[in-house]
Amino acid sequence: MLSGELQTVGTGSAQRSRVVIIGGGFGGMFAARRLRHTRVDVVLLDRETSHLFQPLLYQCATGLLSEGQISTPLRTMQHRQRNTKVLLGAATGVDPASRTVTAARADGTTFSLPYDYLIVAVGMRQSYFGHEEFASFAPGMKTLEDALTIRRRIYSAFEMAETIANPEERAGWLTFAITGAGPTGVELAGQIRDLATLTIAREFRTIDPREARVLLFDGQDAPLSSFGRKLSSRAARQLIKLGVELHMGTRVVDVDGGGLTATDGDGIAVRYPARTVIWTAGVEAVAFVRTLAEALDVEQDRTGRIAVNPDLTAPGHDNVWIIGDIMERDGLPGVAEVAMQGGMHAAGEIHRRIQGQSREPEVFRYRDLGSAAYISRFHALVKVGPLKLSGLVGWVFWAVIHLSFLVGIRNRLSAVTTWLFALSRGRRMERAFPQRDL
Ligand SMILES: Cc1cc2nc3c(=O)[nH]c(=O)nc-3n(C[C@H](O)[C@H](O)[C@H](O)COP(=O)(O)OP(=O)(O)OC[C@H]3O[C@@H](n4cnc5c(N)ncnc54)[C@H](O)[C@@H]3O)c2cc1C
Repeated sequence: MLSGELQTVGTGSAQRSRVVIIGGGFGGMFAARRLRHTRVDVVLLDRETSHLFQPLLYQCATGLLSEGQISTPLRTMQHRQRNTKVLLGAATGVDPASRTVTAARADGTTFSLPYDYLIVAVGMRQSYFGHEEFASFAPGMKTLEDALTIRRRIYSAFEMAETIANPEERAGWLTFAITGAGPTGVELAGQIRDLATLTIAREFRTIDPREARVLLFDGQDAPLSSFGRKLSSRAARQLIKLGVELHMGTRVVDVDGGGLTATDGDGIAVRYPARTVIWTAGVEAVAFVRTLAEALDVEQDRTGRIAVNPDLTAPGHDNVWIIGDIMERDGLPGVAEVAMQGGMHAAGEIHRRIQGQSREPEVFRYRDLGSAAYISRFHALVKVGPLKLSGLVGWVFWAVIHLSFLVGIRNRLSAVTTWLFALSRGRRMERAFPQRDL
């Protein structure tokens, strides 16, 4: 598959230390920014051209926000940072002995990047727990492509139902099954009911979109279990009020083009017909992390994450930091804040070394700033330390948190405008998708 000469791409002047950051997500972006005043040459390598704001993917999938509102070109983000070069390429190898990263271009040819310091923040992908065959029937929710696939499937399902006379067949198209009742599954479930009962409620002539069923499956006994019992039961109540059917304490054991099969606590299997199944149940490290772990001779856990030293370096490699979702440290969750703080910590350590400050490596200390989940219009849950908010107050907090982390003034302003417009009138105008099947 690899063709052409392996070429070395210079990372800058010979005198300055070279930092390669793999991944321009939350971890990589914050690491790069933290190095803007450090006397180093930085290469930010990503297999995508844009930084993606994953927490709002579900709003893109359900036609509320556009792709452009939740992503920002990495080049635009970094164009003022003179010591940083952005390169498009997928990392395929690391050689710690020669200190080089190998990356593939879009045409399959490769290039290599020398480094003195390496920060790896390549994130996770959807996990089907060993059942990769489910993926073609039940898209996950990790990439922009996933969001657009889900958008196509949701709106196409209503279009299909509008043309089908057989009630049983039509009901299958009007049933949406979601596996995983964490924030992403809950947010999607709420949005699908919102769009069925508000956005498109009066747009069809044969079907009544308000009859759309949304089924939510999870092995835990309540949705959003990581938010604690009180908020979790509020979420359950709100979801039921919205019309979401909760199937908690179940395990999805099979998925095909016509629906899914789930077993309950007693192991009894039940078949649920649903022409749209969405998978948000689990994550695992992207494939490159295995290559990295082998090259560094370090262990991976069950989900592919690498256990790191207290300063976030890889065991045995004091010039390689592993951060964000792919690091395992004290059971920290895979959330944006862990990645951002990890990126700043790794970059801060490099800065200190460049400044010649020869203290012991600093231990990474995570400050938990809380978590939030959107359930429906004017209803979100927020947990910050002992503070637990829900309903409209929670929704206001949720909006402020998300706006503060969206990249760029343009995206913030346009997201606020879209939300206000959508909230007052229930409208969703980002409903275009390439129609592959006609
Ligand atoms: C749908 C969804 C909703 C979420 N909601 C929330 C939320 O509300 N709050 C919250 O705190 N967290 C949320 N998260 C989690 C949060 O997005 C992640 O914790 C965070 O993105 C992790 O940052 P990261 O830098 O480790 O990885 P990512 O942000 O995933 O970035 C990884 C980057 O690496 C690139 N990459 C991958 N492989 C390669 C390769 N081989 N070569 C080059 N580049 C590569 C990718 O293109 C990507 O740009 C959500 C995640 C999802 C999927």
